[in-house]
Amino acid sequence: MADDALIIESLRKTYAGGTEALKGISLTVPRGDFFALLGPNGAGKSTLIGIATGLVTKSGGRLVVDGIDADDAPERARRHVGVVPQGLNIDWFGKVLDTVVNQAGYYGISRAQALPRAKKLLTDLGLGDKMHVTARELSGGMQRRLMIARALIHEPTILFLDEPTAGVDVELRRGMWEYLRTLTKDGVTILLTTHYLEEAEQLAGHVAIINKGTIIEQGRMAEVLAKLSTEDLILEVEAPAVGGAIAALAGFRPLAAEGGVQITLDGSRNVTDAVKALDAKGIAVRTARSKSGRLEELFLRLTQDTK
Ligand code: ADP
Repeated sequence: MADDALIIESLRKTYAGGTEALKGISLTVPRGDFFALLGPNGAGKSTLIGIATGLVTKSGGRLVVDGIDADDAPERARRHVGVVPQGLNIDWFGKVLDTVVNQAGYYGISRAQALPRAKKLLTDLGLGDKMHVTARELSGGMQRRLMIARALIHEPTILFLDEPTAGVDVELRRGMWEYLRTLTKDGVTILLTTHYLEEAEQLAGHVAIINKGTIIEQGRMAEVLAKLSTEDLILEVEAPAVGGAIAALAGFRPLAAEGGVQITLDGSRNVTDAVKALDAKGIAVRTARSKSGRLEELFLRLTQDTK
């Protein structure tokens, strides 16, 4: 088995109308990882999932699923992949158990084999007592869990979840996270797209931030967060003290700024350390104001850019 569940190289997609949804992106998802693809609306997330699951034709680049090049063996690559799309695309009048069992047929899995598997999946997903009701009788959160069960019936090694918790209330969301975590412990690789930063922070081992068809950051969640969680602060001091303040704050990447000095804080240095360093030189800080924030703010900025 390949070490990487998914390798994407220079992937491009230009839609018929000329929209360049993916401008040559590359990423690698290690086996058993929980990978978050984060980005505002229109960034290209669904397009990427569409290509990985064979629903969208790529314009260029390479996709390797579980060591299988999707150009060489598209059907075989697809068998390793499960997908929970963004919209609810279930047969509203179908019974919950049938919905999952019937899906197995698309993969040539016999009913006898699918039935116990489906029951286990539904039970694990908290739908054990709903197997014989129709899908339309389920709550929104339950419908989404039904879609997860359906996506797992052929035992894919990589699961794509496009905004899995959109419209799901907070309590159910946490329950779903728990379940997804157990899947990754069993060696399933999960790639999810999300708008919810909290979700990405809680779940993901690795993250890629995509905007306008380009990946702007990627790496281990903790590292990307640390990078983005540096904070620029403006410390206001008396104008004649600016030179002295810059000298006193040498470790804080100081810059002269309107009304004082701009410094950069990271996990190892906080504002109290800066104020103390100034105090030691007899320089008083009038106020401190934040110049930039962290992931949440970066994301807001991206969203505004895209509008
Ligand atoms: P996201 O999932 O991040 O919101 P999408 O992949 O859906 O982003 O969309 C990326 C870009 O491609 C957007 O500009 C969108 O309008 C465009 N797009 C998506 N699907 C199609 C399509 N079927 N035909 C033409 N353009 C599309």
